Amino acid sequence: MDKRARRRLRGLLAELDAGERNRLTRRAAKLHKTALRAMTGDARRPELQDFLLRLLDEQEEAAACFAAAPDVAAAPPAGVYGSRRGTVVAVTAGACVVQAGGDTLDAALPADLRRRQQSGLAVGDEVLLEPFGEGQRVTAVLPRRSLLTRADPHDARRARAIAANVDIVVVVVATKAPPLHPRLIDRYLVAVERSGARAALVANKVDLLDDDERRDVRARLGPYRELGVPVIDCSAADGEGIEELRATLAGATCVFVGQSGVGKSSLLNALHATAAAKTGAVRAGDGRGRHTTSASSLYELPGGVRVIDTPGIRQFSVDDADAVTLADGFAEFAPYATRCRYRDCTHAHEPGCAVKAAVDDGAIARARYASYRKLLGGDGDDPQLGDGAENTG
Ligand code: GDP
Ligand code: ZN
Repeated sequence: MDKRARRRLRGLLAELDAGERNRLTRRAAKLHKTALRAMTGDARRPELQDFLLRLLDEQEEAAACFAAAPDVAAAPPAGVYGSRRGTVVAVTAGACVVQAGGDTLDAALPADLRRRQQSGLAVGDEVLLEPFGEGQRVTAVLPRRSLLTRADPHDARRARAIAANVDIVVVVVATKAPPLHPRLIDRYLVAVERSGARAALVANKVDLLDDDERRDVRARLGPYRELGVPVIDCSAADGEGIEELRATLAGATCVFVGQSGVGKSSLLNALHATAAAKTGAVRAGDGRGRHTTSASSLYELPGGVRVIDTPGIRQFSVDDADAVTLADGFAEFAPYATRCRYRDCTHAHEPGCAVKAAVDDGAIARARYASYRKLLGGDGDDPQLGDGAENTG
């Protein structure tokens, strides 16, 4: 768990009532004990695996527990019992491709993980591997620092994992062709907030704008700058902003999302620049097991930018926004929301709503509030999100 996630969890813990907090703390202490016991000695190995798998199932609660017992989270059990640690760079049916050190390896999944593969494993996951037959298999998925999901098409209440451990979701919009729709940005930001990742905003195709249009675009994206979201004017066509984008993303694992035609592929190509930097096809290493030929969904661009690009990424969106979590996606509401007359205020029609008052005072951007209301009401007249491409992963 990184510092930011821990800080956020501490905040969440502080908001709980005392009884709930005590319950969690007791549970954290118990988990802590189990973890320590499980990590000492080979005989305890099945317990360790159990523990890690349970973490996966109860990730959020366990993470909150860890916030209460922070020293446990600091010690992910990588390398114990001679197992290898690696990053999932592609997922196939019943198996995955893992990059471990310089090696890219096919790894089988245990039955338990195979059963709930769509929620239990995603590109970007950190896993432990053990030798298995001729090759290796995944023994555990380590706790995630973020998770991008989309609704299961067969069961909207269930979430499918799209990508794990993403640091920055790059929301790409075109400033012209297709026209700018800030409401789409707001929808993405809600989903990004929920995932635990950060957002960056790319305003692409600025080469098509005259000076007046540029000023207009800058004004319309102003509220996002004020929110602390990096906003980068780019042109994949003439290279403007590409180095600024590279610098913003350096050292991070990213995904690029946005409507079809806004220029995601073109931007990635521009970031590729001179080097042919796909690392999915890295050479064989120490000869442990069969090496893969599968295409990687996680690769590195020049400048240390890691990109996850799976077909499912394009379905990343908000599809089940209830009022409480939706408001969480509008960070600028938070300071006012606590002053609403009603504790469960949805900031829509309630009297004494401090958020609405802040909109009237100009402290909250009216366009953002309008987006919120649209999302809340599910009016459904939003432009379509994503490409509508089916997820094949
Ligand atoms: P994607 O669907 O988001 O991956 O978008 P593409 O990268 O395929 O781009 C869609 C279209 O927009 C293509 O015809 C690109 O050539 C064009 N395009 C992309 N970026 C720019 C840009 O910065 N300026 C201009 N003028 N056209 C662009
Ligand atoms: Zn309110």
